[in-house]
Amino acid sequence: MTFRATVLTLYPEMFPGTLGLSLAGRALGEGTWSLDTVQIRDFATDRHRTVDDTPAGGGAGMVLKADIIAKAVDHASPQGDPRPRLLMSPRGRPLTQARVRELADGPGAVILCGRFEGVDQRVIDARGLEEVSIGDYILSGGELAAQVLLDAVVRLLPGVMGNMASGEEESFESGMLEHPHYTRPAEFEGMPIPDVLSSGNHKKIAEWRRAQALELTRARRPDLLDEK
Ligand code: SAH
Repeated sequence: MTFRATVLTLYPEMFPGTLGLSLAGRALGEGTWSLDTVQIRDFATDRHRTVDDTPAGGGAGMVLKADIIAKAVDHASPQGDPRPRLLMSPRGRPLTQARVRELADGPGAVILCGRFEGVDQRVIDARGLEEVSIGDYILSGGELAAQVLLDAVVRLLPGVMGNMASGEEESFESGMLEHPHYTRPAEFEGMPIPDVLSSGNHKKIAEWRRAQALELTRARRPDLLDEK
């Protein structure tokens, strides 16, 4: 089954962008997933193709209009479309690997990219848009955020990662950060690779990696351990 992504944006030229290369790009070429963009401006009704207006109540910036966004969403995701409708938004629930996995197990996603100050609240409510944040900082638009989300999802689709095991050992999958990695040369600027990794003792290596992961997680992200 093909994972279908539809992105609503004022900048369709930004896609596939990074998603056209490497793992995601190859998978796109092979039809493992599909990507359509919808130009929000095509749903404007006036001569100037206006998509935004000044904020009610005053203040800086512009707001994407509810009527235009509703038409774009209804076109991209008609009734009965089983795909979740996402709005990239710094006010959204922070994206997690667990949510990424759920999305990858589903039929696809319809993703609205905000611009300016954001989107009229009424269309968010009326169309049941799920707000998703990629972190506590402000981007100038939702396009990069949508690419981040899709990159994380696409690499989990069946057949995309060559070595399927690598998906399961990574940071967050186990509720911890991942252990450090090493490769040749055996010595770099006077620093050797930890002995245990050359021991050939797979049980010892697994124990060492788990201990390293735990130590790193305690030091850098104790919140991950508290969640358990
Ligand atoms: N005024 C808004 C920020 C608007 S930024 C506020 O203070 O909450 C413009 C657009 O960029 C947003 O509508 C959203 O689509 C996108 N965006 C910005 N930061 C983001 C983030 N951290 N995660 C996801 N999308 C983001």
